[in-house]
Amino acid sequence: MSVSAVAADRSVCVPLPVLGRDVLVPLVTGGEAVYAALDYAASAPALQRVWDDVAAYAPYYGSVHRGAGYLSQLSTDLFENSRTTIADFLGCRADDQVVFTRSTTDSLNLLAAVLPQGTRVFVFETEHHASLLPWEQRAGVEVTYLNAPRTHDEAVDTLEKALAEREPCSAGDSVKSGPALVCVTGASNVTGELWPVRELAAAAHAHGARIVLDAAQLAPHHPLDIAELDVDWVAFSGHKLYAPFGAGVLAGRADWLRSADPYLAGGGASRKVSRRTDGGVDVEWHTTAARHEAGSPNVIGAYAIASACQALTEAGFDTLVARERELIARVRAGLAEVPEVKVLSLFGDDAPRVGVLSFVVDGWNSSHFAAALSAEYGIGVRDGLFCAHPLVRTLLGTDPQDPGECGAPEAAPGERSLNAIRVSFGAGT
Ligand code: PLP
Repeated sequence: MSVSAVAADRSVCVPLPVLGRDVLVPLVTGGEAVYAALDYAASAPALQRVWDDVAAYAPYYGSVHRGAGYLSQLSTDLFENSRTTIADFLGCRADDQVVFTRSTTDSLNLLAAVLPQGTRVFVFETEHHASLLPWEQRAGVEVTYLNAPRTHDEAVDTLEKALAEREPCSAGDSVKSGPALVCVTGASNVTGELWPVRELAAAAHAHGARIVLDAAQLAPHHPLDIAELDVDWVAFSGHKLYAPFGAGVLAGRADWLRSADPYLAGGGASRKVSRRTDGGVDVEWHTTAARHEAGSPNVIGAYAIASACQALTEAGFDTLVARERELIARVRAGLAEVPEVKVLSLFGDDAPRVGVLSFVVDGWNSSHFAAALSAEYGIGVRDGLFCAHPLVRTLLGTDPQDPGECGAPEAAPGERSLNAIRVSFGAGT
């Protein structure tokens, strides 16, 4: 089915006459209704440059790693060069590995799968579910959930205290030497607020722990340097970084990746497979990133991420950050004119943030409000709990343990709903 046929079907939806006042429209469109998707935090539109690069590759498309033909070799070069471009974009150290995954969620699940037995994981309850949930799924790993901090200093203190209180590995152990991992997001997908990553990394390392940065929301908006931030791993998704869906990255320290079993078993991850005399099979796994990339890889996805990284580098983060600050200021100023609006924030109004912002409107059910913005003004925002249920409940002042009706428009008009509205934008907005 063609895109235009699907779009034509969609256009029969009737505008809801429920908003009845200008709230966001003048902020983003100068008063004109357009079909704007201010939902970059979910998936950012791929850059034209990325589509062009992918289209230019189409005639040369071929299998990677295992083909002798010209197209295979070219595709292999493109795939492996993409790894190098991404490593440069992330400021990787010489011995870091860049593993291609499907997404941030996949990257963090991969890291959870390779944790040494007995690792203790420390994670703030404020994380996106992708960085909150994978750890407990891993047998033999213990997770400590840290309460939501209200300042950067409190975040660092909370982490330090938890790491310092770490139980010794086994009875009689004087050193808290067991493996430990801290997982933290660089920028919140709910409030857009930046987290004190460098300070948290220093605290983690001072206590013998490692740290993984969930950069799903940071990488598209902010320069990122693994070595300079001194984080051990970084995870992000292509579809939030102005590339199409389907590919992500886990980059960082090679040792845990190298010593664990492959994330997926299969061709590409194995170097040598032979039958044993007892009838079984011996496998020698790769020790490079390929160890965790079994199966035919998503070459186009990897190339698209590399293309987006190059485009962002060429545009310059100084320019992008300045433009985004301008947009944030305009949105904040516009929202400030509406007394019923409350912008959600963990670290306070002045906290530095990327182009992601959530709010509630007194007297409005957030789902109705978001539906009205779309139907009446053509502005696509998101409403709900944004896969960060404990965080949003904390921000809304509801019981963080209350299961509630996540994201459902259950509140009657005039009642406060359990969810919020999110606007997000980025390069090219
Ligand atoms: N982490 C954060 C902070 C996110 O905002 C998201 C997605 O919204 C994810 C992780 C998960 O990303 P993906 O759905 O691409 O795996």
